[in-house]
Parts: sequence; C-alpha cells; structure tokens
Amino acid sequence: MSTIKDYEFWFVTGSQHLYGPETLEQVAADSQAIVSGLNASGALPAKLVWKPTVKTPAEVKAIFREASYDDKCAGVITWMHTFSPSKMWINGLKDFKKPYCHFHTQYNREIPWNEIDMDFMNLNQAAHGDREHGFIGSRLRKARKIIVGYWEDEEPRRKLGDWMRAAYGYNVSQDLKLCRFGDNMRQVAVTEGDKVEAEIKFGWDIEYRPVGDLVRILNDVTEEEIDEKMAEYQSRYDMDTDNEAAVRYQAKEEIAIRKLCEEFGYKAFVTNFEDLHGLDQLPGLAVQNMMRDGYGFGAEGDWKVAAMDVIMKSMAEGMTGGTAFMEDYTYHFEKGNEHILGAHMLEVCPLVAANKPKIQVHPLGIGDRNDPARLVFDSKDGDAVVASLVDMGGRMRLIVNDIKACNPLRPMPNLPVAGVMWKPLPSLETSAQCWIMAGGAHHSVLSYDVTAEMLHDWAAMMDIEFVHIGADTTAESMEKELLYNDIVYKLK
Ligand code: MN
Repeated sequence: MSTIKDYEFWFVTGSQHLYGPETLEQVAADSQAIVSGLNASGALPAKLVWKPTVKTPAEVKAIFREASYDDKCAGVITWMHTFSPSKMWINGLKDFKKPYCHFHTQYNREIPWNEIDMDFMNLNQAAHGDREHGFIGSRLRKARKIIVGYWEDEEPRRKLGDWMRAAYGYNVSQDLKLCRFGDNMRQVAVTEGDKVEAEIKFGWDIEYRPVGDLVRILNDVTEEEIDEKMAEYQSRYDMDTDNEAAVRYQAKEEIAIRKLCEEFGYKAFVTNFEDLHGLDQLPGLAVQNMMRDGYGFGAEGDWKVAAMDVIMKSMAEGMTGGTAFMEDYTYHFEKGNEHILGAHMLEVCPLVAANKPKIQVHPLGIGDRNDPARLVFDSKDGDAVVASLVDMGGRMRLIVNDIKACNPLRPMPNLPVAGVMWKPLPSLETSAQCWIMAGGAHHSVLSYDVTAEMLHDWAAMMDIEFVHIGADTTAESMEKELLYNDIVYKLK
C-alpha cells in the first residue's frame, strides 16, 4: 500500500521581471517562509515543497511539465505574491491534469499603516495578482480548489490539508488495481457500470479472476501460515466462539486472497455469494481483517464501492474515525427519532468499531455454504458521510449525504453482525427522497474522517458529477439540480 507521505505537493509562486531583482528576492524569501510555516504547522498530511518563483511563460510551462511527469508530485499549489500576467500561465496550465489549488493569501496579515509606501505596494499584490491568476483558471475552465485566508490561520491550513487528502485520493485512483472474484450479482443494476469509462475517468484497472484461481492458492496454504494468522486474529480481536475450525478456514481464505492481491498489486476486491465454487465459507472475517489494513471491498460484485472504499480509506490515512463499506439495511421509523440501520451480512469494516471486535460463528442463510466466522462490534458516535458512486450512462455521479452516526440504539441479540445507525441530514425523509431521486445505491462507503468537501474536491479533480445532500438540501432543490445537471452533461 502506498502512503500519503510518499507524495509531495509543489508550492509555485508567480511573479514577473518588471519589479527588479530586489523585489524578486523578497518574493522568494516570503514564499519560502510561508512554505516553512505551513510545513511546521502540523496541519498538512504531506510535505509542501517550495519551488523557485516563475517569472516567464517558459518557466511556467517547465514547472507544470515537470510536475506532470514527477511521480512524487501529487499536485500543485499556486500563489501570486505580486502581479504575474496570466497569459504567461496558459501553456503551462492548459495541459496540466493533476490536482491544482490556488491559495489566495498574502504574506503580511495587516496593513502596516505607518510604513506602507509604493515599494510595499509593488511587493504585496496578492489581492490583485491572484485575481489575474484566477481569471485564467476560469477562462481555461480548470478544475481547481480556491482557498482564501491568512496562511498562519487554522481554517485555511485545515482546508489545504483536506485538499491534499482529496488530491492523494486522486493519485491513489490513478494507480488503482482492483480484482473481481466473480461477476456482478445477477440482475442487480446499481452495482453495474462501464469499466472502460471507469478506467478512462478514474484510472482504475478492474480485472476479473475466477474463484478457481483463489481456490488453487487456498489449497496450498499451510497449517503454519494459518497458525500465524490465528495469532494475529487473537491479538486484534476477542475469540468468542468454540468453532475454531470455522475461524481457521477464514484465516485460510484471507491468506489466499492476500497472496493473490499481493501478486498482482490489487488494493481492492469484490466477492459474490453467488459464485463461491470451491470455497467452504463466504469470506467474512477474512474480508473484514483485510479492510482493517486498508484494502477496499465491495460485496455482490460491486467494484465501484470497492474502489471508493480504498480511495476514501487512503484519503483518511492517519485519521482515527474510520471508513467502511456499508449498506442501508432497514429503517427505524419511530416518530422524531428516525434512523437508518446500516450493516451487511458479514463484511462490515472494523475500522469503525468503538470496542474490540468479537469473532463469532453463526449460520448464514445466503450463499449456501458453511457457517462463516465474522467480526461483531459496536460502532462510534459522530458526524460522518455516506458516499455512493453510480454510473448514469455517459457519466459517473458521486452522491454524498452528511449523517450523524451512532451505535445501534438498542441491542439486537438475534442479529449477529456489526452495524452502524445514522440520522441522515436534513431528515430521513428528505435524505432518502433525494438519494433515491439521484439514483444512489444501497451500498455506500461510510466515513467519520472524509468530509463532503473533500469528496467534492475529489469529484472536481476527476471531472465527474457531484451531488451533496446536507442540512440545507430540499427535495425541490435536488430535483432542479439533477435536471440542470442532466442538461449540462448532455452539452459537455
Ligand atoms: Mn450488499
């Protein structure tokens, strides 16, 4: 697995030769101070790298070309300390595809009332230099993030950090290889999609491997390997079953899935309970333990949710809330206390656990195999989002709903799976109405760490449609937005 620390972001300051060498020296010193300050703040998840001031079209073009082909560079942040005529930027920007952020700040916080003179005015021109820069971004229709604020303040730093996380999601997406063990569940529509379009848009290499390939590896797993995996399970979870054989079988499945994923570089995978030839159990604990380590997962062949799971987990690297594959299961329609119960038949990711998960073995009506071992746990309280990516035919749409998540309101002794409950914003009624209107799936990725703003930025980097259901959303506004979007995407 890659890490966000493998990447760097370039800070490019724009100017021109008009001001003379003394001013340009000061520009360089000030932008270096800003970069050092931001790096030292602890607010950024990856390193910001200062680049020499660009002053000519050739320098602009060179820096963006270099950024485009440097594997370590995850995105570019621009800032105009002085005026930098933005025709200079056209040839550099127009072919640049990586994440791009325009940081609109200035070196000094306050106007130095007694000292301010024309020299100061010539040096400190972000208020108009950045507007000139902004125009060319708009004229080129460039997807970019615009962050406004003083560079020593917390809020713009947080925004920059969040944008870096979204940009990391973009970079993970470009290199993502995903394995489908079995096809999509028969006749299900929302989990389908155009894999060619997904590779063009997102960079995803979505491959198929017959379950037989997995079974061949599984048959060669040794008892020693299983012992080692069992020791890991015991260190991470509480063993709450006498059926050790069932747990050992999940260990065997996990070892086989991991070996295959490592051999081909898969960071996400799907299973399908309709296609378990040669497997004695539907992978449950096996999948949950891999999700805990950052693998993306989708059930019933849902490769879109598997990809979003690993991308959102990557965006949340180092954060402690948790990100999980989820499914809308059933409603609690108690008046004034409406909630959704989210769970899955087995595969809920333990990253959202509030306590140490228990390993239990219970019968499973679906899949027609032996009783599978799975993790059961309580879930956290907190603000979160659920996200669903759907293929609208000709375009991908990302739907995000802000939610207030919590542990299931009461114990459910006869439902031996992990679950999360949530109150969707603005209300269950409006949320579900909007979600269904937008075509959102029953599968989603739930995250306590990734925010709607981060997903909005990610969708903009990917050039896909983004729909947000939040506290202020109404069904009427959503209906109009979807209608207008349809028209926009027909014109695109
Ligand atoms: Mn499902």
